[in-house]
Amino acid sequence: MQIGDSGYLSARFGKQNNSMFREMVMNRITIIAEDCKGCRICVKRCPKNCITMSPHLNKNGYPYAEFKSDECTACGFCYYVCPELGTITVHEEKQGPRNE
Ligand code: SF4
Ligand code: SF4
Repeated sequence: MQIGDSGYLSARFGKQNNSMFREMVMNRITIIAEDCKGCRICVKRCPKNCITMSPHLNKNGYPYAEFKSDECTACGFCYYVCPELGTITVHEEKQGPRNE
């Protein structure tokens, strides 16, 4: 799901107050390496250090950002600061429900 979709808030907050079940959430981002210009703004802005720069270059000759961590909170900061619209997509994924 891309942040800003109409279902984002319900996906993020829905059913979390259920006392019998808790949905495990695995957040992540995807980055289109070929669209990245290597500015590193997302790397600096991520509060959880989830993004790093690849040691490789994309086909346009730029170093590109890569997602590296499962600590992502789906805050969306990287999405909003990236000057290359559509390069970063924020996903908030549910795995569950799981009995508590
Ligand atoms: S959504 Fe937030 S926590 Fe996740 S990678 Fe982007 S800036 Fe970091
Ligand atoms: S902010 Fe966007 S263009 Fe800049 S390094 Fe991150 S993904 Fe690449």
